[in-house]
Amino acid sequence: MIYNQIKERLYRGLPVFSFEFFPPKTEDGVDALYETLEELVPMKPDFVSVTYGAGGSTKEKTHRIVMAIKDKFKLEVMPHLTCVGHSHDEIQQMLEEYAASGISNVLALRGDPPKGIDEWKPVEGGPAHAVDIVKMAHNAGVFSVGVAGFPEGHPEAVSFGKDIEYLAQKVRAGADFVITQLFFDNALFLDYVSKARRAGVTIPIIPGIMPVTRISQLEKFKELSGCYIPPELKKALSKCKDDRQVEEVGLAYCAAQCADLLRSGAPGIHFYTLNKSRACTTVHAALQALGYWSDDR
Ligand SMILES: Cc1cc2nc3c(=O)[nH]c(=O)nc-3n(C[C@H](O)[C@H](O)[C@H](O)COP(=O)(O)OP(=O)(O)OC[C@H]3O[C@@H](n4cnc5c(N)ncnc54)[C@H](O)[C@@H]3O)c2cc1C
Repeated sequence: MIYNQIKERLYRGLPVFSFEFFPPKTEDGVDALYETLEELVPMKPDFVSVTYGAGGSTKEKTHRIVMAIKDKFKLEVMPHLTCVGHSHDEIQQMLEEYAASGISNVLALRGDPPKGIDEWKPVEGGPAHAVDIVKMAHNAGVFSVGVAGFPEGHPEAVSFGKDIEYLAQKVRAGADFVITQLFFDNALFLDYVSKARRAGVTIPIIPGIMPVTRISQLEKFKELSGCYIPPELKKALSKCKDDRQVEEVGLAYCAAQCADLLRSGAPGIHFYTLNKSRACTTVHAALQALGYWSDDR
């Protein structure tokens, strides 16, 4: 049996592995991304996703990369779509274009305000929250619909409880699965999942994980998302004398973190790749040796 949509893959009883990419700004970047994809294809990811830049800034680029992944690399692919700067009609049109191109998954997001603008504002009468895109994508009847989740709470959320209520609202509107913001402490993820379950969120919640290979990456993500870094990880990284040692610690931690999540019942792992392959191939090798990531998929 061939499992085409992400939601079907999530219900076949095996962990689902996926990679996230961003559309490169330059042609050299596109070539480098295609090289990364060549290296990752042998791992048989269940799907890959492509991000969407603020205010439609990557609209064409995202579409181009999505179609190349589908046609050239023959992978199940999921474009991200955000409310930022778009009317309902524009979102509807993009969904129709994707459906006509044979794309059957979409990650429905609100998005963040463009650089330099602090406060989130939808376009006049446009979609204001991810739930609005969820409804449109679900009603199209051809998409597996993913949404974002925040194990440490969304930075703008009124409260953690309210944020979970809104997650449940996205599920009632037709979301099929959740992918989380990156995190480094599995206890936070497991607590989030149990709170979401209590709020009636029964769909799979896939942890989003970033293998750390540079201190600067970690600092950037900590600044952007305020994510908690366990003191033991911080201490191990602080002892590193060069980038090679940082990568060793980062990838060993990532492999152990993923194994622990899968052992704890996570339905798979979504890797934030930063368009690079080496970290993912290393973690893949560890998960394969532990029997979590079989080639026989
Ligand atoms: C896996 C993943 C992929 C991502 N990919 C991208 C990307 O490609 N491009 C990009 O720009 N950003 C991306 N982001 C970032 C994301 O768009 C931002 O974090 C954004 O601020 C929140 O998006 P959301 O979809 O969770 O929004 P929402 O679900 O709309 O939530 C946003 C805020 O509003 C509140 N809220 C939700 N619904 C309602 C409601 N009905 N009424 C009132 N308040 C509500 C929530 O509590 C939260 O505080 C991604 C995030 C994740 C986790």
